[in-house]
Amino acid sequence: MTHGEELCRRCGKCCREKLIVADVIFATPIMCGWYDRETGLCRVYDRRHEVNPDCLDRDAAATRGVFPADCPYVQNIKGYVAPIEGVVDAGLLAMVDGGLITDEERLRQEVVKRMTRMGMRIPRSLTIPPHFRRH
Ligand code: SF4
Ligand code: SF4
Repeated sequence: MTHGEELCRRCGKCCREKLIVADVIFATPIMCGWYDRETGLCRVYDRRHEVNPDCLDRDAAATRGVFPADCPYVQNIKGYVAPIEGVVDAGLLAMVDGGLITDEERLRQEVVKRMTRMGMRIPRSLTIPPHFRRH
C-alpha cells in the first residue's frame, strides 16, 4: 500500500484483499489486482486511490487495522490489532463463491469454528450472532 515509501519492505501483505466478519478483519490470500508480484510494487501507485477506492492511505490503513502486525508502520502503535491471518483461506473463499456460505451468520460460524480448531482467541464481536448485535 505504501510502496516506494521509506519504511515499506514490499512484502505486499497490506495489498491482500480482506474479509470483514462482524467488524473483525481477516486477511485473505487474494492479492489486489493492481499488485505486481514480480516487483512487489503497485502498478498504479500514483493514482491508486482513483482506480481503487478501497485502497487506503497510510494513516487510514493503520487506523483501520489493515497493516499486518509485522509492518514497520504499525510496529510502535500500542494495542494495534492486525488482520487475522490464516483463517480465511482459498477453501473458505471457494465455499463463499460456490454458494455453500450465503449469509453472515453462516460465515461467522465458519470462521469461529476454524479459529477454535486452530486454538486462536475469538474476538468478542464474533461470539455474538448478527441478529443480536447492536450497531
Ligand atoms: S491499489 Fe492495490 S496494489 Fe496498489 S497500493 Fe492499493 S491495495 Fe496495493
Ligand atoms: S504491509 Fe507494510 S511493509 Fe508490507 S507492503 Fe504493506 S506497507 Fe509495505
